Amino acid sequence: MENKYDVIILGGGPAGLTAGIYLSRSGINTVILNEGITGGQMSLTHKIANYPGVPDVSGYMLSRTMQKQAESFGCKVLSNVKISDYDFMGDEKKIKTERRGTFISKAVIIASGGKSRELKVPGEKEFAGKGISYCATCDGDFFRDKEIIVVGGGNSALEEAVALTQYASKVTVVHEFDYFQAHKKAVEEAKNHPKIEFILNSTISAFYGSMSLEKAVVKNLKTGQEYDMKIDGVFIFIGYVPQTKPFKSILSLNKRDEIIVNENMMTNIPGIFAAGDCTAKRYRQITTAVSDGTIAALNVIEYIQNQL
Ligand SMILES: Cc1cc2nc3c(=O)[nH]c(=O)nc-3n(C[C@H](O)[C@H](O)[C@H](O)COP(=O)(O)OP(=O)(O)OC[C@H]3O[C@@H](n4cnc5c(N)ncnc54)[C@H](O)[C@@H]3O)c2cc1C
Repeated sequence: MENKYDVIILGGGPAGLTAGIYLSRSGINTVILNEGITGGQMSLTHKIANYPGVPDVSGYMLSRTMQKQAESFGCKVLSNVKISDYDFMGDEKKIKTERRGTFISKAVIIASGGKSRELKVPGEKEFAGKGISYCATCDGDFFRDKEIIVVGGGNSALEEAVALTQYASKVTVVHEFDYFQAHKKAVEEAKNHPKIEFILNSTISAFYGSMSLEKAVVKNLKTGQEYDMKIDGVFIFIGYVPQTKPFKSILSLNKRDEIIVNENMMTNIPGIFAAGDCTAKRYRQITTAVSDGTIAALNVIEYIQNQL
């Protein structure tokens, strides 16, 4: 089965959905192939308070609204698609999927975002989904009246720690430094919360349990001392890794595996653009992803017109 479009967008987070809105509204036949769930990382957060014009919205709601907006202009959005091959070299870009056939287009926007960084310690893989989580919105409710750990000290960690207090009886933030990378307001809110405690200069070095997670080994990074902590759940928010592995041999990436783009969001291959968290940049937010998606879409329109 062959599916022909003007543009294929890889990724259905805020960058991809925004590009979908702009392209479809301009009459460009566009499909979004999203390997994950609609909204990408944006859908993982309880509350978004910094998206202009929508002061208090859940990640899930904002994701659904962006998808509907794209679809209302005729953009096709396919989520949970498994992609098996990419051919970017010719004038026709070809993307092979496992169950939906091959997609062909004149241009591609890669908006594959990032995913949560893992601690990479013993027991983490074994207890992922059995007490260890990377998504407060998805799993917070499983920890009603339970004691949990949040690992990390950035905005996501501290904001999600506060959000998790609506379920958990106690939240212990384990952070590797004695200062936080989060902004002042997030730090103050977490520090002033009666249910939140802190273990600083520390990390988790292993997880143990039987059917599900039972304890975490806390390691003091200054003294090297380790001790067991009985715990019901652990949420890990220690940053992100770009989802660019499939493009490593094709596109120019930097040493952090982020896609290098110019100011028009163009990669080193003609007709291949990239936008959002998968690109090389300093700040990763919904607003910056949306901005990248807009710039990529507008440049793709120009690129397609020049091909005629
Ligand atoms: C817990 C958490 C809380 C956050 N809170 C906020 C907040 O309050 N405010 C804020 O502004 N930002 C927040 N962020 C950051 C924000 O969510 C991201 O910056 C933003 O979602 C990035 O958008 P994106 O479209 O570039 O990528 P993503 O949102 O990562 O979406 C990429 C999508 O592409 C899919 N994909 C990956 N590889 C492929 C491929 N090869 N082909 C097709 N699809 C692929 C992924 O499965 C995913 O669905 C938060 C992030 C996290 C993790």
